[in-house]
Amino acid sequence: MESAEIRRRWLRFFEERGHTVVPSASLIADDPTLLLVPAGMVPFKPYFLGEVKPPFATATSVQKCVRTPDIEEVGKTTRHGTFFQMCGNFSFGDYFKEGAIRYAWELLTSSQEAGGYGLDPERLWITVYLDDDEAESIWREKIGVPAERIQRLGKKDNFWSMGVPGPCGPCSEINYDRGPEFGAEGGPAVNDERYVEIWNLVFMQYERGAGDGKEDFPILGDLPAKNIDTGLGLERLAMILQGVQNMYETDTLRVVMDTATELTGVRYGTAHNTDVSLRVVADHMRTSVMLIGDGVTPGNEGRGYVLRRIMRRAIRNMRLMGATEPVVARLVDTVISTMGLQYPELETDRKRIETVALAEEAAFLKTLRAGTNILDTAVGETKAAGSAVLPGDKAFQLHDTYGFPIDLTLEMAAEQGVTVDEDGFRRLMKEQRDRAKADAKAKKMGHADVSAYREVADRAGATDFLGYTSNETEAT
Ligand code: ATP
Ligand code: MG
Ligand code: MG
Ligand code: MG
Repeated sequence: MESAEIRRRWLRFFEERGHTVVPSASLIADDPTLLLVPAGMVPFKPYFLGEVKPPFATATSVQKCVRTPDIEEVGKTTRHGTFFQMCGNFSFGDYFKEGAIRYAWELLTSSQEAGGYGLDPERLWITVYLDDDEAESIWREKIGVPAERIQRLGKKDNFWSMGVPGPCGPCSEINYDRGPEFGAEGGPAVNDERYVEIWNLVFMQYERGAGDGKEDFPILGDLPAKNIDTGLGLERLAMILQGVQNMYETDTLRVVMDTATELTGVRYGTAHNTDVSLRVVADHMRTSVMLIGDGVTPGNEGRGYVLRRIMRRAIRNMRLMGATEPVVARLVDTVISTMGLQYPELETDRKRIETVALAEEAAFLKTLRAGTNILDTAVGETKAAGSAVLPGDKAFQLHDTYGFPIDLTLEMAAEQGVTVDEDGFRRLMKEQRDRAKADAKAKKMGHADVSAYREVADRAGATDFLGYTSNETEAT
């Protein structure tokens, strides 16, 4: 079943059951606490928090999501992308636990002829929160899932809250057993690659207090209106329904890998390293196009930096596979052609997206040309001196003179078996920043133009990369 059909069926199923179909919101969250939208519930947050009265009692959507904290997993696990689409159904004080569980089971297991996804019920494993006896008894008694396929998980996996006082509650997740070729049996509690999580049902039923830690907070009582928030990964379901081994082999990502193959001559399935690179390219180029489509432009801070890092990582992986010419035009073209079926605005915006992407590629290739020899020489000298740690001042020089961000230096050094003295690098960065500040202050007192210094300080500040992983919470 194609991704487009999975999406259509999802929306139709819930629409037929009275849910209002809400189009995906932009990836740029209308929410100061978030850099990018990581989950389907984000556009509905004000309703869940009781800040705004919802215009409908139930809703459904397929939301574009970006989770930059998952970047390290990309291409290595079979099921994490930086961009993915979260199918969701939501209830604002309407149906609760039993309703959500019944809908999920019906949609997943009813036959494809009847409009469902036709999954084999015997392959579905359920997790519930430690003390959620209510959910477990619904699964067992009302749905008929045998006790041995229901497992209990703790707060980290199966309890949801927004990290602040307000609504919270237990989750129940539906996992699909992909069979012994994915490793040991024993259920999702022991093997999450074999028993892949596909759908998370969040039961918002309590009000929490502040507490002292992230997972340690008091439950103050029941919410006046209980809500449902669910999220199913479209790419994960596609992977199962298309009978492929990982999400990069599904219809919308496979074609991007194929374009990367045409550009590099590297075929998928020949070696582990290049397979990871092909997946990284497919994922990152898609994420880049979706971000540019929603108005993000490459830059040194915040969202712009997320985009820059992801796009440059894709280009680097293409070069690791042997590409020597620009590659972005072809890759962007493929992404737009496949994603444009579900997001037609990509087609109408094609020219602008290409222009932004090509400019970033040109800037990066210039940086690479300038810095790569310097880095290689420094690595050679480090090794010749019998060390495996590149000195901090080399990393600093690469950054300061050649515009190499530290993570690029780290990655390229690691490829040659060398680590980097990051503390030394950061010390030098800080010294430079302090100097710039002091100079700026002195000049300011003399009423001189400080803009040049501000530029230095901004550049230096951008390499702390804090915006990259902070400001991101996983909302579902
Ligand atoms: P996992 O444990 O596999 O990392 P999660 O518990 O972080 O997933 P949720 O926050 O519960 O995921 O999100 C709801 C659903 O979205 C998941 O059940 C999964 O199907 C999908 N999903 C989450 N993260 C990703 C990702 N990085 N790439 C693709 N799909 C994802
Ligand atoms: Mg996760
Ligand atoms: Mg999980
Ligand atoms: Mg989950």
